[in-house]
Amino acid sequence: MSNLVGKVALVTGASRGIGAAIAEALGNKGAKVVVNYANNAEAAEKIVSAIRNTGSEATAIQADVSDREQVKKLFAAAIKEYGQLDILVNNAGTAEFASLDEIDEGHIDRQFNLNVRGLLFATQEAARVFGERGGRIINISSVVSQTPPPNASVYSATKGAVDVITQSLAHELAPRGILVNAISPGFTATDMGNGVDTSQAEYMRSRTPLGRVGQPVDIARAVAFLASDDAGWITSEVIAVSGGIRL
Ligand code: NAP
Repeated sequence: MSNLVGKVALVTGASRGIGAAIAEALGNKGAKVVVNYANNAEAAEKIVSAIRNTGSEATAIQADVSDREQVKKLFAAAIKEYGQLDILVNNAGTAEFASLDEIDEGHIDRQFNLNVRGLLFATQEAARVFGERGGRIINISSVVSQTPPPNASVYSATKGAVDVITQSLAHELAPRGILVNAISPGFTATDMGNGVDTSQAEYMRSRTPLGRVGQPVDIARAVAFLASDDAGWITSEVIAVSGGIRL
């Protein structure tokens, strides 16, 4: 179903994992897609090729989203390429696990700089370029904002921040026709998900009523729905896509 034809989407952190699946899902629905990545140009180009093979347009743009100047350049390059922007998916994120004693400034800064500051600055740029057509912002949060596990206080706090930023900006930007929602994935099979130790992964699987870990495409389908006209009356929502996980 090609219901995003004529739209341009930018997905942060789209070279791998959930972001890559989101970029492909939006491309499959006809959107032109900017595939942002931090380091892995080869992986980003593979996603671009996959989208082009479905007949849509895509381009890879490198930018460290935790750096405000690079965020500005990313949006300028996207507009130069496609002339407009309609959908921003704030997906790039990082997760580090640490006990209270292990937390230091770097642990806090790396996660807040990307998961919160980067998301805010990307949203600021998107809202400036959406123009009169309005637009869609879809933030990738996590179920940990509602059910934070041990040794993840800082990561969970960043996702709690994402949830409240989503709700605040949904109200602020509604008069401009900009809809802001978040998807909260449960435990999902990606490089980040695979970084969790085996006993914790097994625990999360055992707490998931649907009995399996998520695949990136499970998350991507929900994002594609929120980006579509069918979701035109949905804003300010934080929606779990998690197999029903309760940690
Ligand atoms: P991932 O497998 O670690 O992939 C991370 C992606 O983000 C890569 O494309 C990476 O690019 C990019 N990236 C990393 N740092 C960046 C930066 N500073 N600027 C721009 N891009 C950057 O992660 P994932 O599991 O797909 O997670 C995606 C999102 O879902 C995150 O927000 C995460 O918190 C959230 N989430 C994940 C899970 C899970 O179980 N996996 C569960 C809940 C929520 P390079 O390839 O260039 O390094």
